Amino acid sequence: MNKKTAHRLARIFAWSVAGAMMVDHVADTGPLICTVDPTCRKMTVDEVAMARPIFGDSLSYDKVLVFQRLPINRIFNSSAIALTHGNNIYLGPNMAPHRDDYGYARHPSWIETLPRYKDHAGVFVHELTHVWQYQRFGRPNIKSDLEYDFTLNPDTPFPSYNIEQQAEIVHHYFEKRRDIQDLQSFIAARPPEIMQQIHLRQTLMSDCKEARQYESLLKQVLPIQPLIVCAAPVASPLP
Ligand SMILES: [Zn+2]
Repeated sequence: MNKKTAHRLARIFAWSVAGAMMVDHVADTGPLICTVDPTCRKMTVDEVAMARPIFGDSLSYDKVLVFQRLPINRIFNSSAIALTHGNNIYLGPNMAPHRDDYGYARHPSWIETLPRYKDHAGVFVHELTHVWQYQRFGRPNIKSDLEYDFTLNPDTPFPSYNIEQQAEIVHHYFEKRRDIQDLQSFIAARPPEIMQQIHLRQTLMSDCKEARQYESLLKQVLPIQPLIVCAAPVASPLP
């Protein structure tokens, strides 16, 4: 490679990095960026199906872009595993190997899958909540030293929680729903071993009680679809 070609390539690289950095600062990039950025994708059909029972039509899924990388200016100096800016979700290398699709259909049962996948799908829903905040309130998610931990209190208005606590509440509720759905399938597939059933049913009742606490808070702002199994009398006497 001669000096002139090397110089030209260096300039192209510099402009590409600069362009990507500029794009990373735009909260609503639009899907055209995915034609030039190979790390960019839209939400998969299964991811939308996974999110819809929580966000319903209050989230414009079509506007969400998922980048399988961190923003350029955070690649080398960030401990974040994922972050969101406007409609754009950035997933770091720690979110691999499933960052091409976190949809439910890919792993129908979490009991038989890696806990890591469950964590990552939960993080994805956390980031989706930040997109929802942006779409609803028009503010890009600007990181600061916010508290993530929360105490669930159905009497506290949801907007009283900070944006990270809100995302964590949705994240934990999502995981609770998945635990309940898995447990329900597990119970249905088992032979009627009474003691085991008692134990599992008690766990299911306890999980449903917790899910309803989340729902009474979240339904202030989200069109939650409560789980049918928790509406049914799961406490019915055993034979
Ligand atoms: Zn967050």
